Order: sequence, then structure tokens, then C-alpha cells
Amino acid sequence: MESSISRDIVAWMADPANNALAPGLAEPAFDSPLVGCASGADPLFAWLRDDIGPDFYWTPAQALQLAFPGREMRPEAVTVIAWVLPQTARTLEAHRRCRELPSLAWSQVRHYGEMINENLRRFVVETLAGQGIAAAAPVLLPQWNRATSARYGFASCWSERHAAHACGLGTFGLSDGLITPAGKAMRVGSVVAEMVLPPTPRPYTRHDEWCLRAAGVACRSCIKRCPAGAISEAGHDKELCFNYIRNVTAPYVARELLPGIPVNSCGLCQTGTPCEHGIPKRPRKRPAGEQTGELAGQGEAAG
Ligand code: SF4
Ligand code: SF4
Repeated sequence: MESSISRDIVAWMADPANNALAPGLAEPAFDSPLVGCASGADPLFAWLRDDIGPDFYWTPAQALQLAFPGREMRPEAVTVIAWVLPQTARTLEAHRRCRELPSLAWSQVRHYGEMINENLRRFVVETLAGQGIAAAAPVLLPQWNRATSARYGFASCWSERHAAHACGLGTFGLSDGLITPAGKAMRVGSVVAEMVLPPTPRPYTRHDEWCLRAAGVACRSCIKRCPAGAISEAGHDKELCFNYIRNVTAPYVARELLPGIPVNSCGLCQTGTPCEHGIPKRPRKRPAGEQTGELAGQGEAAG
């Protein structure tokens, strides 16, 4: 996506004053962002609302309407701008070594990095407002809330990962993480705005196309990386994941890493996997009759 707002996002993140791993550190929290956009009239958004929760999930126009009540927002006049903030090589290296508990760097990104992501959302909204464009960050709206999806369990009114998927930035993996061109180890954000931008092409047709399993490869890397047993051939058990983070990793972070701050940090399934820092490569086609093997150990944590 090449637009002035895309360039503004990249420039804002390149400023060390905006992108520090922790207060007072010179080290960046994130690598350079990827940015994409989609039309509010893209049928995928209505499909997502109906699939996730027609009674609570927002389309882009509905989210923007909440921020600007009394002003009609036509879906075709609304654009979603989404971004991916990739973890740095240093954070990946530190986290790959962890087996059961998160690294300091990952926990710093989960805490301070998410504050950067929030500031970026505000920056985008304010930049567009300065150009006379109505814009809002759905997850920062006071109406944003968690909900229970009949189909998927824990959910919310607006999913940053699904917005990024619609904006051509990635497809879902077995662990529910979004596999992007910069990998699955990243954070996402989005803003909806009353403007028309050319949509970013979606270089996939399936929601899980970049996960190796969608290509028939019996990859088990994220299953093996999860210390809570929350990932299986059947997918991601959100409740087991939530309980592990709430009962084990968040108290650990508050006790040992960032005193007094119980950060919801884990993400072990996002590192040490073939999809960690890029779209995983499909194996060469094997001769007919030869069985497709499991990618045992590929991309596993070092040490
Ligand atoms: S580790 Fe393998 S199975 Fe898990 S999301 Fe990545 S590619 Fe898919
Ligand atoms: S975030 Fe942690 S607990 Fe949850 S699925 Fe990933 S590795 Fe397992």
C-alpha cells in the first residue's frame, strides 16, 4: 500500500522517540511496519460479522458510525487501514530460547510495545483528522468490548487480526496467530476512516493459506511450542491459553521480569516455528507415492 498515510505510519515508527522497547532504552520495540487497506464495502467484513457474532461484531462503517453518531457512514466511503508491527530479530532470538515462560524482551513488547501501538492508532486518527477526514481506532472506542462468539468462544467487537487479514496482510495459522509476510511474531493495529483508498490485493484465497497445514504439511511446531497444551491438531483452545497466561505467565512477569506489572505475555507459539518471521516455505513436491512427512523440529527453539 503506497499512500501518504502509509508513509506517515512508516515514518512515525522509524522515529526512535516513538518506538522504544522500554522507557529510556534506545533499542526499538518493532521493525518497520507493513501497511495494507481494504474498502469498508468489502463483503469479507459483513461475512466476518455474521461468522463471528452478528449481534456484537462491527463492520468498519458501524465502528466509524459509533465514533461519529448522527453522521451516516456508507460502507463504500469507508476504508480500513491496518498495520503489522514485526518483532525484532533480538526479541525473536531471546524468545526462541524460552520453553515455558516468556522472555523479558517479549514481555516488554507486550506491555510497552502495545502502548506504542495505541499511540500509533491515535497518531493515525489525528493525522487524518488534521486532513478533515473522520477516523477512529475501533479498539480504542469506549464501546469496544469483549463478547462470546457462539462459534469461536472468546471474541470482541473488533478483531485487529481479522482486519489485517482483510487488508491483505496475512492468513491464520493453526495457533490462531496471523501469519504475515513478516511472520507470525508481530502485533497488529487498525483504524477506520471516511476516505477511499485503493484496496491492497489479498494474495490468498483461503483464510489459512500460509499455514503449512493448509498445504498438507503435518507441521506441529506451534503445537510443540505451547507449554499449556493449548494447541492441537484441532486448533487453538482459547480457554487453556487464557488460563495459562492468567495463572502462570502474567504472575511470573510481575514477579520476575517487570516488577508489579502482570503482563499477559506468552507468545511462545509465535517463535521457534517455520512461520515465525515470514511466510513458511512449502516443501518441494515429492515424487508420487512418497509420504509427506512432518516438519519435525523445523524452526524449533535453539538451545
Ligand atoms: S507452526 Fe506450522 S502449523 Fe503452526 S501456524 Fe505455523 S505453519 Fe501453521
Ligand atoms: S500464547 Fe502461550 S499458552 Fe497460548 S497458545 Fe501460544 S504458547 Fe500456548
